[in-house]
Amino acid sequence: MTYIADSSRYGSMTYNRVGRSGLKLPAISLGLWHNFGDDKRHDEQRAILRRAFDLGVTHFDLANNYGPPPGTAESNFGRHLREDFRPYRDELVISTKAGYLMWDGPYGEWGSRKYLISSLDQSLKRMGLEYVDIFYSHRPDPDTPLEETMGALDYAVRSGRALYAGISSYTPQQTLEAAHILADLGTPLLIHQPRYSMADRWTEQGSPNLYDVLDEVGAGSIVFSPLAQGLLTNRYLKGIPEDSRAAKEHFLRSASLTEEKLAMVRALDGIAQGRGQTLAQMAISWVLRPQPSGASSVTSALIGASSVAQLEDSLGALAGAEFLDDELAEIDRILAG
Ligand code: NDP
Repeated sequence: MTYIADSSRYGSMTYNRVGRSGLKLPAISLGLWHNFGDDKRHDEQRAILRRAFDLGVTHFDLANNYGPPPGTAESNFGRHLREDFRPYRDELVISTKAGYLMWDGPYGEWGSRKYLISSLDQSLKRMGLEYVDIFYSHRPDPDTPLEETMGALDYAVRSGRALYAGISSYTPQQTLEAAHILADLGTPLLIHQPRYSMADRWTEQGSPNLYDVLDEVGAGSIVFSPLAQGLLTNRYLKGIPEDSRAAKEHFLRSASLTEEKLAMVRALDGIAQGRGQTLAQMAISWVLRPQPSGASSVTSALIGASSVAQLEDSLGALAGAEFLDDELAEIDRILAG
């Protein structure tokens, strides 16, 4: 059936400005790392994407290697665009990345201009797009000069293949250098995509920390795996469900779900219940809270969802109350073990 987007789709979502750019992103964005490869039914994928857009999620995040197999998240998303979202292209922010292994030989990964531009051309073809909104260097390359990698992002933008440039998993120092190179080239760094959740707070560490650096250079942040791939939800509180990421041993290993970690998750779940939230909702609210250092808050929480029910639950985070100081202190105490 022809999809017609819900006319109330902009009623409940919050949109945050990305750094000092003119672009806004939804406070919660949807990533297609898992659940959009050839291992997931087309109608299930479609239902998640349609519901997300109907609820105001205007940003979908991809990468060349998402699948499985690699590339299929983009080709499947291309089909969803053709079938459902073509009339809404200008309402969408679509991102992709290159950095991890995509093809054989010396030009199939990392950060050379050769790899990044060929990969972006392949991504555009798979998605059937003329341009992506954001193109990312997916990871820093220790062997390629940063000038070359940033030069490739600048070229991607100047040649019309992308509207904005982003980086992922760069350290604060690398971020500062990358942003200065991009600024000199005339293509500002839009955004950084780091991992960030109650289970991984590396972005808060160091002086200056990543968020301080992003404020200095005027870039925003979109944080991935805010649910720690499902750990920070009620998913594993009663064992390992058959259809879960941990059961598939797909990046989240069942062996990592130790009794100690699950005890922590149960304690966090108690706080979430006290706040009238599910644990997933609290985990998302937490990454979006004011930063303890006083730096700007995260622009967007980049979630995954394997069902419409999960997506709806997670989006409910935006209705949650602000954290009380006592709640934050209790969460810190639990996380410290
Ligand atoms: P999350 O931490 O949000 O984990 C998503 C998983 O958690 C789901 O697949 C599901 O697991 C479970 N889940 C989601 N919502 C709920 C809920 N409400 N209740 C219970 N369980 C829930 O994020 P991801 O790890 O999926 O990463 C999100 C996105 O971030 C990716 O799609 C990608 O776009 C980006 N990313 C970027 C990286 C980078 O290097 N730049 C690296 C990794 C991710 P289950 O499948 O078991 O149901």
